[in-house]
Formats: sequence, C-alpha cells, structure tokens
Amino acid sequence: MDPFTVIAMLAIHLLGTAGLLFLVWRLMPAAPGLAAWWVASGLFGLAYLVRLVVGMEHGDGVGVAADSLMLLAVLRFGDGVREFTGRAAWKPAATFIAWALAVSLEAAATVAFGAQGRYTVLNLAIGGLYAHLAWTIAVEVGRQPRPLRAPLRLLALLMGGLSALTLVRAHSLFADGMAVAFHGPLAKVYYMYASTNAVVVGLTLLWLLFLRLNGQLADLAARDPLTGVLNRQGLDERVRRHFERPNAAPLTVMLLDIDHFKQVNDTHGHATGDAVLMAVARTLVSHLRTGDFVARVGGEEFLIGCAEGAHPDDAMVLARRLNEAVGQLQVAAPGNAVPVVCTVSVGVSGRVASRADWEAGTRQADRALYQAKADGRNAVRPAVVSHAA
Ligand code: GH3
Ligand code: MG
Ligand code: MG
Repeated sequence: MDPFTVIAMLAIHLLGTAGLLFLVWRLMPAAPGLAAWWVASGLFGLAYLVRLVVGMEHGDGVGVAADSLMLLAVLRFGDGVREFTGRAAWKPAATFIAWALAVSLEAAATVAFGAQGRYTVLNLAIGGLYAHLAWTIAVEVGRQPRPLRAPLRLLALLMGGLSALTLVRAHSLFADGMAVAFHGPLAKVYYMYASTNAVVVGLTLLWLLFLRLNGQLADLAARDPLTGVLNRQGLDERVRRHFERPNAAPLTVMLLDIDHFKQVNDTHGHATGDAVLMAVARTLVSHLRTGDFVARVGGEEFLIGCAEGAHPDDAMVLARRLNEAVGQLQVAAPGNAVPVVCTVSVGVSGRVASRADWEAGTRQADRALYQAKADGRNAVRPAVVSHAA
C-alpha cells in the first residue's frame, strides 16, 4: 500500500476513535482520562489529515505546524493516562513547555536541514514521549485494581513497541535521509505497526473504560453513598466471599450503634448528623485490620466483621479501642461554636465459623448491643453464648 493510503486510513481510524470516545465521554458521568483521550485521538487524526492535504515532505513552517498538532496529541494522551491511573497530572505550564521545546527544536532542525531535520526531530520527540508513556503505564500497573492490569500491560507493550520503532526511524532518517520515511522495509514495518496500533490502542482504551465503569457500578451497588462503607448488599457479598475461601478464618460480628443520635439531629440538624455519621465511619475504617470489614446496616448502626486469629488482639480489644476513638471525636457543626461529640455502644458476638452461622452471630451481637444500651450506653459488651444458641 502506498504511504498516502496508509496515512489516510490512519487519519480515518483516529478520527473515528475520537468520535467514539467523545460519545462515551458525553454519556459517562465520571471517566477520568476520557476527555484527554478523545482530544488526543482527534488531534492525531487531524495532524495526519493536514499532512495529506498540504503534502508530506514539507521542509517549512506548514510541516512544523502540522507536526505540532501531533506532539500536542501525544502529550494529551499522556495526560489521559495519568488521569486514568490516578497519577498527578502534569501542570499545564509543564505540558506547554515540553510542547514548545519540541516544536522549537523541530523548527530549528527544519531551518538547518529541511524536511529531513524536521522528520528526525519529530520522530525523536514522539519516540521519547512514547517511551515515557510506556514507562509510566508499566510503573502504574501494580497499583491498579487487578482487572485493569491486563489492558494496562497491553497498552504499555504497544507504546513501548511504537517508541522503539519511532526511535529507530529517527535514527534512520538522520543517517539515510528522507527516502526511508515513506519507502523501503522500515517505512512498511512502521506504518503497518502504526495502523494496527491505532486500532488496538483505541480498543484497549474502550476495554479499560468498560472495566472502570463496571467497577464503579459494582461499587455503587455495594457501598453506602454517605459514608462510603459497605451497605447491606456489599456486606452479604463480602461475607459470602470470605467464607468461600479455603481455610477461611472465623469471624466475629461487632455491632456499633451511636448513642442518642436522634438528639444530635434534633439539636444540630440533619446535616450535622450526616457529618457525625461520616466521621464515625472514617474512624472505624481507620482502625480496621487486614481482613476486617465495615458496613452501615442501619441509620446510625455499623457492623464490623473481625477476622479472628489473624491479629494478636481479639475482637473485644478492637471494640474497646473503637469505643474510645469514637468518644474522642470532635465533629465541627456548621453554625455551632462547639464541636459535636458522640459515643457508641458495642455488642460483640462469639466466633462465627461458617456462613450458615453468620445470622446467629449477628443476633448474638445484637443482644450484646442491647445489653450495652441497657447498661447505660457508651459501653462494650460481649455476647453471652448459651448452649442453645
Ligand atoms: P440510642 O442511644 O438508643 O441508639 O438512641 P438513638 O437516638 O441513637 O436511636 P434512635 O433509633 O431513636 O434514633 C436513630 C436516629 O438516626 C433517628 C434517625 O433520624 C437518625 N438517622 C437515621 N439515618 C440517618 C441519616 O442518614 N442521617 C442522619 N442525619 N440521621 C439519620
Ligand atoms: Mg442509636
Ligand atoms: Mg439504632
């Protein structure tokens, strides 16, 4: 295939991918990285289109202007990757400086060596940026949720390959002149890779977005929107998964209920009540140990599943620690000079060894909680396990 046709196909692919990503971006409520990706894909497609329209071997400002779009596209793509993986974004000034530097270098090389200088510097700059991207993604893989790792590895591999080819092309252009840009075996390999890459990268981005969306939906169904801890459905799922594991550790059920919470609402308003609930949930989460989990199971009632045997302290020690930590909370109340304080009562079950015993364990913890309330609140009580229970 002649270079013109390949570049035309590349442009169509990239613009098509930009359109698709744009539509997904419009429809998805929150998709970090997506805005940068559709812009990057669009700019890339546009850059190829401009090349086709103005001709490819320009050794002047027109060529440099077209390439500056391509450089911007790669930088935007990198922004998208950083956003998607939760890495700190480059400051706009840093992006601008990187872009301006590459464009100036390219302009200088164009003045000095014409089209050959322009293409060499462009490939060098883009090859370097791809390498940086491949490295960034590879470093991020381990920190990402497990399902995202395969597509991220693929993306790193694709970018790494593209970087290597682009840098080899830069060297070849420098050493052998413009002839290798569009003709000969290297040009063939380069354009075959680039056009396959444009398709596969687009699909990989959609794969990543789909997985991310799937994770968000699962989270939405399993978590309480106010406090971010598990809701009842998430709790059921967590308990099921826990006991499905071979040699699952026994669990202890802990139920915590905020004392006189109705008074907090009545005195300070519902919004302050919500702030207290969030602060209590944060405190509980911050004290959890590996294998423990927390759920909001009622308005102001939380359940903690404690993995037994995995920790030197037993559940009663943790329960007392939580009771103390909540008692020390000072929640700022809007329009109130004095922070709101609260206490919790806690009931702790006996050991629960299987999923079938979970309900019975929860009832034990509930009875113990009732006892803590009856004993005057702000207290921790263990279950009194009768043989009948
Ligand atoms: P006790 O010490 O016996 O537990 O007394 P209490 O006042 O904490 O218990 P009660 O069950 O009488 O009141 C619970 C209150 O929790 C009543 C309800 O308005 C409030 N509540 C439930 N869900 C929410 C919520 O999402 N936000 C806020 N702000 N309040 C809530
Ligand atoms: Mg209460
Ligand atoms: Mg309650």
